[in-house]
Amino acid sequence: MTKPFTRRDFLSTSLSTSAGLTAMLGAAPLVLVGSGTSAADKPAILGGTPMSTASFSGWPILQGDEEANVLETLRSGHWFRGYSNQGMVAEFEKEFAAINGAKACVATANGTGALIAALAALDIGPGDEVITTPYTFIATINSIIAHFALPVPIDVDPDTFQLDGKLADAAWSENTRCLLPVHIGGLPANMDDILAVGKKRNIRVIEDACQAHLGRWKGKNLGTLGHAGCFSFQVSKNLSGGEGGAVLTNDEDFAERVYRCHNNCSGRRTNPLDSTQGQVRAFNFRMAEFPASVLRAQLKHIEQFAEVREENGRYLNRLLAEIPGVYPTKIPEDGTRSAWHLYMFRIDPEKFGIDRNLFIQAMGAEGIHGGGGGYGYGTAKHWIEFVRNSYATPAGKRIYSKAVLDDWAERVGALPQAQKVVSQGVWFSQNMLLGPKTNMDIIADAARRIQKNAAEIAKG
Ligand SMILES: *Cc1c(COP(=O)(O)O)cnc(C)c1O
Repeated sequence: MTKPFTRRDFLSTSLSTSAGLTAMLGAAPLVLVGSGTSAADKPAILGGTPMSTASFSGWPILQGDEEANVLETLRSGHWFRGYSNQGMVAEFEKEFAAINGAKACVATANGTGALIAALAALDIGPGDEVITTPYTFIATINSIIAHFALPVPIDVDPDTFQLDGKLADAAWSENTRCLLPVHIGGLPANMDDILAVGKKRNIRVIEDACQAHLGRWKGKNLGTLGHAGCFSFQVSKNLSGGEGGAVLTNDEDFAERVYRCHNNCSGRRTNPLDSTQGQVRAFNFRMAEFPASVLRAQLKHIEQFAEVREENGRYLNRLLAEIPGVYPTKIPEDGTRSAWHLYMFRIDPEKFGIDRNLFIQAMGAEGIHGGGGGYGYGTAKHWIEFVRNSYATPAGKRIYSKAVLDDWAERVGALPQAQKVVSQGVWFSQNMLLGPKTNMDIIADAARRIQKNAAEIAKG
């Protein structure tokens, strides 16, 4: 029998107390209520009692200061960052750089804008190639296409869902200008492998850390290992301002270039009204003062949330590893932390007994709602078609002939491991890891009883 978890239990086992967290917990349903049935019982999809009848934590979660900060901004009339380095955006930049151990931060309107500005600051342009992963949100690829460059997706490691950095060197060509690893789901990509190729080929590494807030690779925060790291604060992300983004870097000159690219050529250091001094391709991706007001309040508790997700994510990995046909991700221990934006794992249909789609359906019947991992794309076939279509315009054809794109498509190849994670991957959203450990037990119990009854479920 799984006993309902009280707020007091939760505070004593999972999180240290603070006024903000207490307020947060009062507002959010975090605790699953188990039905009291054992794992051997009939799955809900076959008419049994659902494992869980309560909902997970909602998202976003108010931390307390949002309202006061937004009102302060509203009443001050200081609604955009303007020609000053004071205000909510400027303060947020300092705070976000500090929490990540980075020297500089440029806040942006969104994560896509952060990526576009960072690539613009590298002067990425037509004919350049950017090595990245096929298993990502489309914004990663769009940021490359925005510069009329060619994305070169390399295959992934099915144990981590991340691009396999060991394949990056073979994908290098004379046109390669940048490595753009993505820490998809918040799990760290193997940065040792990627940085080694960057160094060998003397090309920059830009991390797409849009899902990876406060994740770590060997002691360093994700987004601070490459030349720059790009973040998103869109509402679903682990740090949310509704919309928003940022570029982190330890190279202050590069930060200045990013600043100019995101601010119609005007720099932070120079006379802000002099827009003519910059030979940069520029946009307006400035963050407004309102999302920064929300972000500064949210920022105060993201470390505590990151700790809870890490503890629960690793615990659930251990529980699921015991179930035949379930493959949790493998994450190194040494100073490495996943941001767990997505809790991802694979279902091998042969060993588990039913396929991923039926598994998700059966888990849904148990009251545990996940999704099929892969944004519905992520395969070589999809990306090749997407890029070909993107450049099937008169301008596109002037840059890339059919022969060039044919050669490119052949180099991309079949990406079999990406195909595998797209068809076998399961995702749970990050907020499902924000409750007590007993929630993880319920998730694992549900998966176990589905597996035990897989043959019967398969019959339909
Ligand atoms: C969310 C996301 C982006 C884009 O961020 P927006 O703020 O939505 O523009 C880019 N890359 C990845 C991997 C993302 O998850």
